Amino acid sequence: AILTERLSATLRDVPDFPSPGILFKDITPVLADPALMRDVITAMLAPLRGSGVTHVVGVESRGFLFGVPMALQLDVPFAPARKPGKLPWKTARESYDLEYRSDVLEMHTDAVGAGARVLVVDDVLATGGTAAATCRLIERLGGSVVGVSVLVELGFLHGRAKLPDRAVHAVVTF
Ligand code: IMP
Repeated sequence: AILTERLSATLRDVPDFPSPGILFKDITPVLADPALMRDVITAMLAPLRGSGVTHVVGVESRGFLFGVPMALQLDVPFAPARKPGKLPWKTARESYDLEYRSDVLEMHTDAVGAGARVLVVDDVLATGGTAAATCRLIERLGGSVVGVSVLVELGFLHGRAKLPDRAVHAVVTF
């Protein structure tokens, strides 16, 4: 079957998680299928071929699960963007607004310097706030963002509107 069909059959919809009214896309069944995982990593990299990616940044925490194998495949460094207080060394932070609160992401200040051509990776693009904040943080550290690659895009939340002029790639869109 084609990859999007295999993914649709494998991703698990969990109603009312983490709060009532949310239909959560559970990616753990994808992690449990190594053949599918390999094809997913290839598909998430495909649009970036030839764009000179020098670093992959994965967004806490499920972005790490896809970002690390992608970085290994590209043979480039991986760096994590994490929730506040998790990274041990010197950090830079960026806040972003959610519906009823704001949240913060941090990166090590030496993670992506001038000249870095960075690919941002996460599992799911929802409202786009997380990915947009990650891009701003990378640019503040001197890097440039060559693309954002996610496994799943929740199109009805219009995350791309928060990422104008960014190359956003999703393997499957709902
Ligand atoms: P956004 O900032 O609204 O785009 O939310 C994206 C962040 O929330 C990502 O880091 C995702 O891991 C997480 N997220 C939002 N919705 C889901 C979901 O349905 N499944 C898994 N992760 C989700």
